[in-house]
Amino acid sequence: MKITDLKCAILGNNPVIRITTDEGLVGIAAGESNKSYLNPMIMFYRDLIVGKDPTDVERVMLSIRRLGAFKPWGTAVSMIEMALWDISGQAADVPVYKLLGGKIRDRVRVYNGSIRFPLEGNQPEHYADAMGKMKALPEAFSIIKQAVGFHDSMYSNIEDFYYGTPVTEGRYPNRGPMTEKGFKHLIRCIEAMVEVLDGDVGLALDCGPGMTPGDALRLAKSVEDMHITWLEDMLTGDYTPYVLSDLYLQVTPYTNTPIHTGEQIYLRQNFVDLIERKAVNIIGPDPADVGGLAEMKFIAEYADLHGILFAPHGTGDGLLGLAALVQLAATLPDNYIAFELPSGDTKWWYDILTGLDSLVVKDSHITVPDIPGIGVKFIEQEATKYLKESDRDFFDD
Ligand SMILES: [Mg+2]
Repeated sequence: MKITDLKCAILGNNPVIRITTDEGLVGIAAGESNKSYLNPMIMFYRDLIVGKDPTDVERVMLSIRRLGAFKPWGTAVSMIEMALWDISGQAADVPVYKLLGGKIRDRVRVYNGSIRFPLEGNQPEHYADAMGKMKALPEAFSIIKQAVGFHDSMYSNIEDFYYGTPVTEGRYPNRGPMTEKGFKHLIRCIEAMVEVLDGDVGLALDCGPGMTPGDALRLAKSVEDMHITWLEDMLTGDYTPYVLSDLYLQVTPYTNTPIHTGEQIYLRQNFVDLIERKAVNIIGPDPADVGGLAEMKFIAEYADLHGILFAPHGTGDGLLGLAALVQLAATLPDNYIAFELPSGDTKWWYDILTGLDSLVVKDSHITVPDIPGIGVKFIEQEATKYLKESDRDFFDD
């Protein structure tokens, strides 16, 4: 079998690809939402993969993997990898998990990082209110992640939250030491959320990046009695093109609150330092940014050898990302906690794919489907309705 084409479209807010073959099989994948600017970059890889056998996934990946970088510049490589597994699964008539080593669990745990209720403010009661609504969701999530501090609007809406001048336009990397006032406010908000969850549901907090190592340690120690599931991305994280293990080593060894990072990191090589030096307790790569599903599997296995847990990122990966994460999570070692459930962005995404009935969350879990490939396919006559004018030939082979 040979790859005949790579096509890209922006569907809703997600970049999506189709890899076509001379045997009629088609592989699909999506990248994180709001990355429409990646379209020309994705097409750069077309000539590097056309003519190759898509079922020799690693051989194809060796020709493109080094031509990527930290989020968002690893997205194209990651999408191609996932689409190749989709083709390979269909060619072998097995679900992708069989090709990643087989499943060790029939149901995979997910956590809520995408189903949100608008915060009416940044006071403790607002966080408590949103948490109550998320706790009542029919998915019965066993872990809920909430953005706080530098990761939500708290840093700019709470006056004197930190010793810096907040910049809210663009993607400015706000950071700095927190004031006593800001720190106490953050703690009160966390206490309010913990009270609502009342031990029934784990609370993970996405905190930055933007905190200093000193504030990160102070926060981690201050919430030790609250049994927080993890503190995420206090020092690095979203769109920081570096790892900074040394800074995490000023925090992680000195607290029993689990420290988490890794959603922006590209490739296994860039996890070696974090893992071998045990700079964090939990890592959370995103399959649509790290380099794909096998890349995630390698990293999870290596983390497990070092006593590090695994909780993949995925909030923006859309329903194609959801299907891929389910296949992957079925195969991960027992350091797996849960992956971040992606949602369809926008709502009509739920009308343009087959296989979604098999991906319903019950009791915070999804039962792993046995559909060949990644498990979902486009309903082309429905999906076509939402193609942009420039992407009109997306479904033409
Ligand atoms: Mg995060």
